[in-house]
Amino acid sequence: MNPLDPYLGKTRIAYFTMEIALRPEIHTYSGGLGVLAGDTARSCADLALSVVFVSLVSRAGYLRQEIDRHGRQMDLPDPWEPLEWTQPLDAMVAVSIEGRTVWIRPWLYSLSCPLGPSVPVLLLDTDLDQNDPRDRQLTDRLYGGDDVYRLKQEVVLGIGGVRLLKALGFDITTFHLNEGHAALLTLELLHQCRRSPERLRSGEPVYDHAEVRERCVFTTHTPVAAGHDQFPYDLVSRVLGDFIELDEIRVAGGPEQLNMTQLALNLSGYINGVAKRHAETTRRAYPGYDIRAVTNGVHVPTWTHPSFARVYEAHFPHWGHEPEALVKADQLPDDLVWDTHQKAKADLITRVKADCGVALQPDVLTIGFARRMTGYKRPDLLFADVERLLAMAEKYPLQVVFAGKAHPKDDDGKRLIERVNNHISDLSDRVTMAFLPNYDLSIAATLVAGSDIWLNTPLPPLEASGTSGMKAALNGVLNLSVRDGWWAEACIEGVTGWAIDGTAEANADADADALYGKLSEQVLPLFYNDRDHWIWMMKQAISKIGSYFNSQRMVRRYATEAYLR
Ligand SMILES: *Cc1c(COP(=O)(O)O)cnc(C)c1O
Repeated sequence: MNPLDPYLGKTRIAYFTMEIALRPEIHTYSGGLGVLAGDTARSCADLALSVVFVSLVSRAGYLRQEIDRHGRQMDLPDPWEPLEWTQPLDAMVAVSIEGRTVWIRPWLYSLSCPLGPSVPVLLLDTDLDQNDPRDRQLTDRLYGGDDVYRLKQEVVLGIGGVRLLKALGFDITTFHLNEGHAALLTLELLHQCRRSPERLRSGEPVYDHAEVRERCVFTTHTPVAAGHDQFPYDLVSRVLGDFIELDEIRVAGGPEQLNMTQLALNLSGYINGVAKRHAETTRRAYPGYDIRAVTNGVHVPTWTHPSFARVYEAHFPHWGHEPEALVKADQLPDDLVWDTHQKAKADLITRVKADCGVALQPDVLTIGFARRMTGYKRPDLLFADVERLLAMAEKYPLQVVFAGKAHPKDDDGKRLIERVNNHISDLSDRVTMAFLPNYDLSIAATLVAGSDIWLNTPLPPLEASGTSGMKAALNGVLNLSVRDGWWAEACIEGVTGWAIDGTAEANADADADALYGKLSEQVLPLFYNDRDHWIWMMKQAISKIGSYFNSQRMVRRYATEAYLR
């Protein structure tokens, strides 16, 4: 039997993504973008929406992080074995890279959810005997290598992916580009629907942009133009060859460099940012495009701690399929909510002890901070004024757990990891803090459920959405965050959590001042002096955030507004 039989006849939508977080053992993701793709797939399964997912196999993973004795990140390979988790499919397609034929074969991962049918995930692999040794490594390292390597990976994903779907027998009408990495798929579509000389009436262009736009949906995730992939045209022409005339690519991809965001914007009929504020920022950066907002969400059953899952199951039987049911979480008994949270916190304490040898206290307010370690996320904002931090901790005890990886080439991010670790050890006899190495799906699940406060300090407007705070809220963990990304929509001050309001202009001192102010005057006193009100807020967060900021709502919106246009 063909393992694709359950999917072939009914699947009309393909979701292309450079990374996807399927499970901790499958190292095909680096962070938020991949987790979002994974949560999207899980919700498609729950909702029985037939979508095929396409990504790279990334055999060597992204990076395994270890922290050396100076507090610095060491980047190690993070391999996984596709045969253990997926099955090879019998099809192969070829793309041309630098004039060589590069063969691509897919692995099939059938993502199944307890609630619905499974969805297929195709992981593309070039590590085949048929290929030149140089090309066998193209699908090894996620976001590895230089620009040339990156462009070649994007050829495999975008062009190879479209060809493969066809070869496998999929009849796809809608292609969803999760970020610009997959934008080359638009060129393959242009190629496929170019007008043949017989069809061509005078004055008509050979390439039918309108038809491609009809078929493409583009979700952009980065608010800064500098964060988008750009490739010089001499490189593009060397790698792609004469696949499509360079002048044609320039029309859609930008005059000077091939800008993947520009290409995707010009050839997609539905474009969206991942939060309302992010859509506004993107409209300013790219005027003239109709940019909608579909605010991200998280997969509720995946991110709910097992103890809370039991509570929800008992009180709201259909919560997994219909997370809107959590709106009634404000009616849960206080003791039940608190005791359930303490179980999640105990798991975090166990993990921190096992991984870092640091002993956290169950009754001390615990701040969690875990994200991609990079400049704009400002993981060191909490240490802006160490004396003030210590004075605060003297009055009301607090403890902090950090986690997060820096991209191997992000020197700034690496310095931040070192700085945070140095603060942790310098202050170790005054404030208990730990850095959990190798942030991944499993650490994220433990941290977002076991902290009391989820801290988020990005420099606005650079946080497109953020999703970890949504995971925290599902578990009654309160957000303390700069008003950016999704939090600009979700924050009801003193109800669902707290905002860190610095000045209107981005200013680290003002933000640090606001952070200390909120912590010492509101968060800490409330935690220690008015536990009833704290629990009331926990229930407000579950109810107001969990019922809305979930991937079930997000996928339903993509289905009705973007796919069924
Ligand atoms: C949820 C998640 C992220 C994204 O979190 P942000 O809030 O967007 O920073 C990154 N990495 C992992 C492992 C996650 O689970």
